[in-house]
Amino acid sequence: MEIITVIKDMQARSDKMRQEGKTVVLVPTMGFLHEGHLSLIREGRAYGEDLVVSIFVNPAQFGPGEDLESYPRDFERDLDLLRKEGVTAVFSPDAQEMYGENFQTFVELEKLPKHLCGLSRPVFFRGVATVVTKLFNIVKPHVAIFGEKDYQQLMVIRQLVRDLNFEIKIVGTRTIRETDGLAMSSRNTYLSENQRISALALNQSLQKAQELVENGQKDTFGIIDTAARMIRSHRETEIDYIAICDPETLDDMETIDRPARMALAVKVGKARLIDNILLKPKVSESNFKKRSRKADQ
Ligand code: AMP
Repeated sequence: MEIITVIKDMQARSDKMRQEGKTVVLVPTMGFLHEGHLSLIREGRAYGEDLVVSIFVNPAQFGPGEDLESYPRDFERDLDLLRKEGVTAVFSPDAQEMYGENFQTFVELEKLPKHLCGLSRPVFFRGVATVVTKLFNIVKPHVAIFGEKDYQQLMVIRQLVRDLNFEIKIVGTRTIRETDGLAMSSRNTYLSENQRISALALNQSLQKAQELVENGQKDTFGIIDTAARMIRSHRETEIDYIAICDPETLDDMETIDRPARMALAVKVGKARLIDNILLKPKVSESNFKKRSRKADQ
């Protein structure tokens, strides 16, 4: 496994791989790897033989007062995990290498960041879009893998690839959870034992929402209210947002008359955690018959 810290070296290596006809697959991460990251890597393996993982805690996506300094890091442990997964190269530059002197070009989306996490983290998606653009130009992948756990981020990257004409296939993969349902996250390490229990409320409230929708509830206000009550009943929780939105535009939905994405962000102690679920409305018997008749025609 090659460990590369210099942009020019990474670019030269990727050029060589491409000339040899190899498919380059990129899995971008901020390190402190867990099973969620490893699932992305395993998915990536199916797409090509050159599997590159980037590890970079990107200062541009952290706002003032956020956890850039305290973000968990364990580079040696990460490398051990990546060797076991058969990763061919790790790209791990420092901030000076990535942004250097006099950096001044940022990539900004107009609409998608005006929702969900973008409202409380104003520089976040500009930082993500900028670093991902740079990683695409440095690693030159044919395929890049991202988790649905960061749903809005995945939508931002799909949009960025369309808007800027990157010839890169973006693959989104499902969220990996602990056995009790908590979505895996590097930030879970911030949680005390009691906060860890409170954090279960995130997934539980999403599951409850799904149950309500399956039972025919359509009004999003009621579903969000139920979720908010469930979360607030746990100690040390502070809701940033709970939203039910259009899966593509992320605009709020009032009625679940088509599949919707429910997303939430909650602070538990000092950890800001996010999670999401796809809510699918129950197809009534008569609607179902109508739709299948249409499909038959
Ligand atoms: P991060 O290191 O947190 O920036 O995450 C790197 C990539 O791993 C992103 O594409 C995330 O969406 C993805 N990821 C993080 N947590 C999970 C998880 N629990 N399951 C699946 N993918 C995840």
